[in-house]
Amino acid sequence: MHELSIVEGILGAVLPQVEKHGGGKIISIKLMMGEMAGIIPSCVEEYFGLMSTGTIAEGARLDMVKVPVAIRCNDCGYEGGVERHRYICPSCGSANFRITAGRDFYIDCVEVE
Ligand SMILES: [Zn+2]
Repeated sequence: MHELSIVEGILGAVLPQVEKHGGGKIISIKLMMGEMAGIIPSCVEEYFGLMSTGTIAEGARLDMVKVPVAIRCNDCGYEGGVERHRYICPSCGSANFRITAGRDFYIDCVEVE
């Protein structure tokens, strides 16, 4: 269900943009997927295949790039990655940090024929 709304969001964002710029067939869509976004790529592919049928995005390739989680520590100022599934500051062990990457999902670029 989560993935369905994501695919709706992708098509809703991409199709009007491409059509506004004169249309053409979409070859690929690059998606940046945060590790913490909790998106299952195979589900996205499946819904995309279903929902893009009959649109200019039909047959387009999805390039899904995983974005690792990164933090900024409020205690020691550390900035960078964390260990997988261990969300503490690797420098000082604090849990007082802000997540700066890896939480979101967004469209990076769209390749049009
Ligand atoms: Zn720290």
